Amino acid sequence: MRVGVPKEIKIHEYRVGLVPSSVRELVHHGHEVFVETEAGAGIGVWDQDYERAGATILPDAPQVFEKADMIVKVKEPQPSEIKMLRDGQILFTYLHLAADETQTRGLMDSGCIAIAYETVTDARGRLPLLAPMSEVAGRMSVQVGAHHLEKEQGGRGVLLGGVAGVPAADVVVIGGGVSGTNAARMAMGMEARVTVIDRSLDRLMELDTIFGPTLNTIYSTVDAIEHHVTNADLVIGAVLVPGAAAPKLVTQDMVKAMRPGSVMVDIAIDQGGCFETSRPTSHSDPTYVVDDVVHYCVTNMPGAVARTSTFALNNATLPFALKLANDGYRAALGKDVHLRAGLNIHQGQCTYRAVADEFGMDY
Ligand code: NAD
Repeated sequence: MRVGVPKEIKIHEYRVGLVPSSVRELVHHGHEVFVETEAGAGIGVWDQDYERAGATILPDAPQVFEKADMIVKVKEPQPSEIKMLRDGQILFTYLHLAADETQTRGLMDSGCIAIAYETVTDARGRLPLLAPMSEVAGRMSVQVGAHHLEKEQGGRGVLLGGVAGVPAADVVVIGGGVSGTNAARMAMGMEARVTVIDRSLDRLMELDTIFGPTLNTIYSTVDAIEHHVTNADLVIGAVLVPGAAAPKLVTQDMVKAMRPGSVMVDIAIDQGGCFETSRPTSHSDPTYVVDDVVHYCVTNMPGAVARTSTFALNNATLPFALKLANDGYRAALGKDVHLRAGLNIHQGQCTYRAVADEFGMDY
């Protein structure tokens, strides 16, 4: 199969669909890979690296789209990219169609076969192509939280780990899934006092088994959230209710009762946020203050560490990209029900129920 990798054109997007090691795997399996020049430049991956891996470098996106049977990207296609897609061409990338009717209709009109990273599943019902970005966001949340606790950043001037004779900061993580667990791990690594609150007892038991007595696990009730949040230096929101907006677990009154200069990082902001006081922010202006509490609510946290994020994403997407290339999309989707779950658009038809329902389309 001929596989194409255009340079991402969405603003502030530096990640790239395939890294050279992924290209080499595809070439090793007998496929041709076409990469747009400077596709990896934003993360320090150069055209020569791709050429060494066996790719052909092309000077612009139209040529990549024209040559390829399958396009592998990171972000949803922008309008100019949708125009370049053609009937029967495979598109493998993040799509998030339920929030974007124009894109959905554009992809249907193109006749392409669009497989969305975010709806591919695994045997345990999880979303393996979203998980790497949750890992990144979870780990990053502690890094940004620690930074914003510094006085110059508007924080209360607290060092996460304290020092000998001075107590460590209290970090409360609400939601102990992929991002919450990674946040807790980082915070424990920096020697903060860490509490994870989750509504799943099974999850709390798993966390208790993994981390033992250094992690405080608490069952999620309004009472528990109020108690722990109002006494925290850093609160990290990491909840997810699949297919729904994030529940507002931290109320404005709780925020008011927090100490001035405390910090809140709402990772769940891409699902509307789990603090009543959250609103989306961007990397260029990541924080704002409500009731003297610093809020960090960046919707695409992994974008800040684009290099790590690209490699993490590639590790997860490569096996699926290989299946699509090796078997062709029909056989690959037929053999793998989890990859089949990623199929959102098939040659003019919306094939993902939640998206079809959202826009009143036939399914
Ligand atoms: P996950 O499914 O792995 O974990 C979510 C956890 O929330 C589960 O353990 C669940 O039991 C818990 N939960 C649900 N309701 C709860 C409640 N009422 N009280 C306490 N816990 C509750 O999800 P994840 O992969 O960690 O993702 C979390 C959120 O982070 C998602 O909204 C995801 O889209 C988002 N995310 C954001 C960014 C970003 O850049 N901001 C990046 C990656 C992921």
